[in-house]
Amino acid sequence: MDRIGVYAYCGYDLPAEERFKKVKESGFKKVAVWCHTDFNTNSGISEYEQFKFVKEQGLEVSYAHAPIKYAPYLMNKYYGAKEAVKEHKIYVKSAKEQGVKILVIHLPEITPAVIDNVAEVAAFATDQGVTLAVENLTGEAPFDELFREVKDISFCYDTCHALMFGDREGKMAERYLDRLITTHLSDGDGKKDCHFLPGDGVYDFSALAERLRKGGYKGDFVLEAFQTAEYADISEFLSVGKERLERIFG
Ligand SMILES: [Zn+2]
Repeated sequence: MDRIGVYAYCGYDLPAEERFKKVKESGFKKVAVWCHTDFNTNSGISEYEQFKFVKEQGLEVSYAHAPIKYAPYLMNKYYGAKEAVKEHKIYVKSAKEQGVKILVIHLPEITPAVIDNVAEVAAFATDQGVTLAVENLTGEAPFDELFREVKDISFCYDTCHALMFGDREGKMAERYLDRLITTHLSDGDGKKDCHFLPGDGVYDFSALAERLRKGGYKGDFVLEAFQTAEYADISEFLSVGKERLERIFG
């Protein structure tokens, strides 16, 4: 199924070049990457080198994730806010340069200042042909106000984050289905931010799959799981993950 992808880091400290090779060997056609530098690997490689490896493996980028360093400043009306907006516009530009269509961002919380600042970044992104998508980090209905105020921003549903706030079956995905453009799929125990492989926790993925199918979701199914003790080998981790996503969403 060509709508299945994987976040390339997945908790294994391999050189980037090696990691993209493993992703390709496991049969994935799509990857998710951080634009700019990848904060998890601290590899220090530039986005240009990273995207070079992606292209060498013939992989398609499902979405790029923006760095989160400047996200808190989006809450400010004055201090640091201009810099944060500018940084986010650079991430949009870098996504565009690499032919990436979707840029996922984190927001600290939704305040009037955040709405204003994000509206500016979203308008810029639309201009550049990049879709900005905000990821859920908290529970209930975090984006009602944002989506009411800002038309050109989409939604990235993270199952593990939703689970921590009591949504174990895709209720938030359904709530924001008209904005849903991509997914972060992983499992958890409902308490911590576990990012287990789907099936290794308590999230009800078949309920989510049913909701997405009924709602006509057209985006990718992207694994955003990290290594756990059961999976010493990245190849095994990737192939188990891929097989499970195919079984659930295929
Ligand atoms: Zn996520």
